[in-house]
Amino acid sequence: AKDQGRSNYQFYTSALTLAANDRLALETSLRHALEREEFTLHYQPRVRTQDDVMIGMEALVRWHHPDKGLTAPDAFIPMAEETGLITPLGLWVLRTACRQAQTWMRLYGEPIHMAVNLSMRQLRQPDLVSQIDAILRDTGLPASSLELELTESVLMAGDGHTLTALAELKALGVRLAIDDFGTGYSSLAYLKRLPIDALKIDRSFVSDIPHDASDMAIASTIIAMARTLGLEVVAEGVETPEQLAFLKKEGCDSYQGFGFSPPVDAQAMTLWLDGLARE
Ligand code: C2E
Ligand code: CA
Ligand code: CA
Ligand code: CA
Repeated sequence: AKDQGRSNYQFYTSALTLAANDRLALETSLRHALEREEFTLHYQPRVRTQDDVMIGMEALVRWHHPDKGLTAPDAFIPMAEETGLITPLGLWVLRTACRQAQTWMRLYGEPIHMAVNLSMRQLRQPDLVSQIDAILRDTGLPASSLELELTESVLMAGDGHTLTALAELKALGVRLAIDDFGTGYSSLAYLKRLPIDALKIDRSFVSDIPHDASDMAIASTIIAMARTLGLEVVAEGVETPEQLAFLKKEGCDSYQGFGFSPPVDAQAMTLWLDGLARE
């Protein structure tokens, strides 16, 4: 996983420094990718800390690039944002994830939260709320099963339109989570103003537990604050039993990470849920 991360990072770096004609080529192939259905979703389980039961999952987009193979989002989401392609791509992700979640809930027989990442550009679309409403109605997924993950930077851009959109999404019954919590350069005052349901502790505060005392202090503080505010708290990037034991002791509600499972494709998730349903 480490090696994969490194090569993704290099691709990402080079994507940002590409010459104009290479950028154009990437943009063109991204555009075609949507028409040619080269995108796919992987799903990472979200697990209850207390008893290791899967309570939901996060949808993570992948690109089956014709030459480069399976490509991680860091290599193309920034370009999709820049070109505006994130709007149709983001809608495709939402529709696909909601349809899957509805199918899987019937299979599993238990409610599942489906978390979907939402970018800044998407939140600024004037018709985002009505489109999400339509997707929920078309797929039959209960609004309370959909969780939208927003980063602090998206929230800090907090113009009037953003605040209205969040309130309208909340009114639909959709859950809202703050992704990568703790990494944004921001005041905490917005936690009071915004209709947030959950905080996701950024992986950078988890990966060095139990060796880094400051990271542990930060993680504990986020958990305590979330509990005081009545927010669900989710830890990202949990890889080791030590990290899990610490988060459990501190009262973290749920977690995701390679320690339980990396993101898997829809077929693997179907087999998994089918197995759980038969248990
Ligand atoms: P994120 O939302 O913070 O997603 C978590 C990332 O951490 C995922 O990388 C996941 O594979 C990885 N991860 C999960 N558990 C572990 C672990 O235990 N250790 C380590 N080292 N990594 C772990 P991925 O799938 O490459 O996604 C990267 C980012 O791309 C996401 O970060 C998210 O910001 C963005 N992204 C992914 N899908 C979408 C999408 O559909 N729309 C938008 N707007 N952004 C997306
Ligand atoms: Ca996320
Ligand atoms: Ca995250
Ligand atoms: Ca992160």
